[in-house]
Amino acid sequence: MTPLNRLTCEETFRQLDSWLDHELPVAEQHLVDEHLALCAACAREFRFEASLMQSVRSRLREVTLPPALQARVGDLLAVELSRSQEPG
Ligand SMILES: [Zn+2]
Repeated sequence: MTPLNRLTCEETFRQLDSWLDHELPVAEQHLVDEHLALCAACAREFRFEASLMQSVRSRLREVTLPPALQARVGDLLAVELSRSQEPG
């Protein structure tokens, strides 16, 4: 029997994108971390996705974005920054 506070692999995978973007509430982030510590299959998949995302991001830094996309990324960053400055 799986305790209720444990995520299944399926649930963990559903959180993957948010987890990689650090968009999850701390409690849920922790649950995913916990699952990854116990589940080699998910840990491997998450590592793969994380490295993929990192290489995409480092590549994005090297290209010149179209102005519309630049504005959109700027907006997202502003939201992200204001969110991270909120207490709690
Ligand atoms: Zn798993």
